[in-house]
Amino acid sequence: MELTGTDLNYLHVCPRKLWLFRHGIRLEHENDLVQLGALLGETSFSREEKEIPIGEAGVLDWADFKDGVIHETKHGEAPGGGDEAQVRYYLYYLNARGIRASRAILHYPGKRKTVTVEWDEAALRQVESDRDACERLLAGPLPAAIRRSYCRRCAYEELCFL
Ligand code: SF4
Repeated sequence: MELTGTDLNYLHVCPRKLWLFRHGIRLEHENDLVQLGALLGETSFSREEKEIPIGEAGVLDWADFKDGVIHETKHGEAPGGGDEAQVRYYLYYLNARGIRASRAILHYPGKRKTVTVEWDEAALRQVESDRDACERLLAGPLPAAIRRSYCRRCAYEELCFL
């Protein structure tokens, strides 16, 4: 099964969200957030190499391959470590194809904050575990809706809790 960084992000945020998204149920608000993230990526930095597609895994916001560092800009922090899971998958995807990528830096311009994710043995084991979890989840039925504090900010809220 081909997975994307977004899939692994959603796995950590909410398994039901991942299931809905991967089964083609996409709500307009979700698109708005993606566009806002893209806009932030465009306006927060002025780098040469931006928006670098990496196969089916996703698109890097920008990268410095000479130093093995990739960058991702976010409008807000995903709960549950979703953002870290997303960039960890990008590191996995690149290294599996012989492209050295030793760390990812998450940028949160709104909070003036960065988070660094290192690529190491523990990160590899985590990605493998996440991949297995995604495949098991997507092969099964829609997970039950469990209300979390951040459901009110989720595009699927009215679908989950009518
Ligand atoms: S509203 Fe809550 S339960 Fe439903 S998909 Fe979003 S995060 Fe998951």
